[in-house]
Amino acid sequence: MIRDYQAQKTLREDYDVCIIGAGPAGITLALRLAQAGWKVVLAEGGGHDYSPRSQALYQCTSTGLELYPHETRLRYLGGTSNHWAGRCRPFTPSDFAVPPPGDLPGWPIAYAEVEPYLAAAMEIVDLPQGAQFQAENAGLKGGDFEPDKFLLSPPTRFAQKYAAALNDTAGLDVFINCNCVDLEFEQATGRLAAAVVSDYDLQRQRLEAKYFILATGALENARQLLNSTSLRKAGVVTQDGLVGRCLMEHLNVEMGTFILEDGQTGEPRQYYTSDAFVSEYKAGKGNVSATVLDEVRTFGRTAEVKHFLENLLCEMNLAHKVNFIANFSCPGEGVLSTMIEQYPNAQSRLSLLEEKDELGVSKANVNWVLTANDRHTIQCIGSELAKQFVDTGLGFVRLNEYVYDAAIPLKMEPHAHHMGTTRMAASAQYGVVDRDCKVFGTDNLYVAGSSIFATGGASNPTMPLLQFALRLADHLDERLKSARGALT
Ligand SMILES: Cc1cc2nc3c(=O)[nH]c(=O)nc-3n(C[C@H](O)[C@H](O)[C@H](O)COP(=O)(O)OP(=O)(O)OC[C@H]3O[C@@H](n4cnc5c(N)ncnc54)[C@H](O)[C@@H]3O)c2cc1C
Repeated sequence: MIRDYQAQKTLREDYDVCIIGAGPAGITLALRLAQAGWKVVLAEGGGHDYSPRSQALYQCTSTGLELYPHETRLRYLGGTSNHWAGRCRPFTPSDFAVPPPGDLPGWPIAYAEVEPYLAAAMEIVDLPQGAQFQAENAGLKGGDFEPDKFLLSPPTRFAQKYAAALNDTAGLDVFINCNCVDLEFEQATGRLAAAVVSDYDLQRQRLEAKYFILATGALENARQLLNSTSLRKAGVVTQDGLVGRCLMEHLNVEMGTFILEDGQTGEPRQYYTSDAFVSEYKAGKGNVSATVLDEVRTFGRTAEVKHFLENLLCEMNLAHKVNFIANFSCPGEGVLSTMIEQYPNAQSRLSLLEEKDELGVSKANVNWVLTANDRHTIQCIGSELAKQFVDTGLGFVRLNEYVYDAAIPLKMEPHAHHMGTTRMAASAQYGVVDRDCKVFGTDNLYVAGSSIFATGGASNPTMPLLQFALRLADHLDERLKSARGALT
């Protein structure tokens, strides 16, 4: 049943599982666990629809590259699935097998651990059962770039699609306008005793359960952990620890432009780095889309203004003379856009500020930064793609200077895929959650969503994070059953 916590604060005292955040991860977990017969509460901070007041709680400052943390998340029932695009591509075995360069290890588990959940995750996002991840074009000669294989979800809007299930599933209480503002940890038992929740009149209550799952999105999962005084006091969360660190994105670097050989059609082409490329160049993965534009394309915060001016300049045939806004492309030009892996690095991080938000939670600063390893990936993908584009006889590529000269700032946008801020690892030295997604140093606090990604690959994160959510649901089902068995 979905209830409005602002008006009705009747919380049960015997929940088995409390899940915070009703985006794709939280909704999937809540339905799975309630359908397995457990008493579940799902606490969602926003309402049924977008509200500026709830959304304002996502305001962050930024000291690094611009991540647009306010614009790239939605804070209401269904979360960011209310405007996701639905592109789905699974992780591959090599995502789990190949560690990133530097001091941090990769995944502590093999792909085989999440592969069994692929079919169920596909069903959740309305991909046809048995559908194969499709390539719409051939790869490039030379073997470094395969055709990219992906499927498009309708895209599934979780709050709409699962509204009836959220209302009707026995044992499930869903509260909207129910904001987690603190996590109460008991050092003596190692257990989270309660999540403190608040409505918009600052009425607080303790929400108790046997197990807790944070599913508030990658930035907020870290923020909630960092904000908890009792977790900090117990040393579960430390200043130098990894909570909030290793913030990763997928990089949309504008690689350059291309012209096609006579006889080549302007159909969209999508390439993906092969495992051989990753191994040969010791570089990350990436998707490259080669598209002949049918309209001016612009990204970012000032997109509307730029879009207007760019269209005007194209129509006046002045684009080539005008360089004061940015480089941009006119209809008919071929552009190379990308979705490139960022490696984990501890300097790329979310940290807390002194200032509090309206509900008394510390605000966050985001310092999203890349390293030389990421520039290496960008350079290798750009230069090898350019060569193999020619070798395949497709046409010619003009790379932007910053692709091969790391001294020049990149022209790049994030893809709204926040990852890594509570990364999974074999030990607390290298991560925040263990292989079961449980926070190191606690017995009953779990994290769901792409914050647990040890590395981000270049696959869109939502379907993989659902695979992990389903795996976590199975893990908790087992734990709850064995605890019940021990009592009988
Ligand atoms: C424009 C856009 C396009 C995208 N396209 C794609 C795509 O094509 N493919 C893809 O794989 N991914 C895409 N994504 C990313 C995708 O939306 C996210 O991966 C996905 O929504 C993450 O799910 P989540 O449940 O972990 O977090 P979210 O969807 O962010 O949900 C978190 C939930 O927690 C709630 N919450 C937050 N704080 C609190 C609190 N303190 N108390 C209670 N509740 C709280 C929020 O209101 C929200 O409902 C896109 C994102 C954007 C912005």
